[in-house]
Amino acid sequence: MHSIKALFFSVVLVFSVSCAHQKESTYPSNTREYQLGSYLWFQTSGEFRALCYQAYNLGKMKLERDLENKHNRKRAVVFDIDETVLDNSFGGAYEVQNNIQWSQDLFNRWVALKRAEAIPGAKEFIEFATKNRVEVIFISNRTEVQKEDTLENFKKLGIPAKKENLYFLGGNWSKEKRREAVLSKYDVVLYFGDNLGDFHKDWDDKASEERRALVDQHRKDFGEKFIILPNPLYGDWEKSLPKNIKRTDLLKTIPE
Ligand SMILES: [Mg+2]
Repeated sequence: MHSIKALFFSVVLVFSVSCAHQKESTYPSNTREYQLGSYLWFQTSGEFRALCYQAYNLGKMKLERDLENKHNRKRAVVFDIDETVLDNSFGGAYEVQNNIQWSQDLFNRWVALKRAEAIPGAKEFIEFATKNRVEVIFISNRTEVQKEDTLENFKKLGIPAKKENLYFLGGNWSKEKRREAVLSKYDVVLYFGDNLGDFHKDWDDKASEERRALVDQHRKDFGEKFIILPNPLYGDWEKSLPKNIKRTDLLKTIPE
């Protein structure tokens, strides 16, 4: 109990210091309301957990099948980290509760706490892959300076990870170059992510409508080599929405 209280106060303290200079959110006033729904669903619904298990169970089936085949090079499985392997919803939930904007500083402080929890099913899948001598690679847009904290967070959760297999943000936000670097060494069997940019460059910097059309074009890849985790909290989908239009006006609804 004491350690839970200590954790609570350390989280509050770190965020309080961090947020002292935060601007109040400039999002439209209803944005936080829809985000509140997303965070509640993410943190409390059984459906969220079920979808995560479904994703990792499917991944395991695909990997088991692949292990029956021979490869000339070593197999690898590629993971995004945030909202794919680690649950960072605590940080975002703090922003929603306090009506402040996301900032790199706030995220850095959250990562430094090393208190992210595992996404359901991720640890067991990574253990299974490791046991079967499949290289576990993480391509994340966490920054280079966050490597040690990320490794320590993994260690606390019992998730096996090697420092040399962390491909973190070294310049380009797109993950394509880092995927190419991994593909030059390994046969990649599966990619796990919560954002379409975790799978292919096709989705980098595209508008919302185009992103959806590209998903339709790639439909056979989902559940085959791309395994997607549920994340309604944030992502490129949000950035891809048309600008300067009220978000409620973007909804398809019953015609007048
Ligand atoms: Mg992610």
